[in-house]
Amino acid sequence: MKGYRCNKCGKVYTYNRKVCVNCGYTGFSETELGDEAKLITYTVLYVVPAGIERSPLVLGIVEFKDGARMFGQIMTDKPQVGMKLKPQYGKLRVKDGKEINGYYFVPA
Ligand SMILES: [Zn+2]
Repeated sequence: MKGYRCNKCGKVYTYNRKVCVNCGYTGFSETELGDEAKLITYTVLYVVPAGIERSPLVLGIVEFKDGARMFGQIMTDKPQVGMKLKPQYGKLRVKDGKEINGYYFVPA
């Protein structure tokens, strides 16, 4: 999975941003995050937002090797802090009749 590294302080993000929250710099370079992440924390929703077919829905924060973190859907019924996950790209939900795609995480 692709990430973005601050050209000044080296902080890595999972998404492209305008300003580094760590140092305020505005230059970033693409970097490879790899396909391994671990679950930092999660919550389980038993009442899910409209357009999401999975219930209950596990939402969590995952961390890649360079410390880059990302919030997303965790596709498991047995989430555990520290478990290894890998990113996959696909359908997250349906909104106004359209499929919304993005990254979610499955057990590695
Ligand atoms: Zn920075």
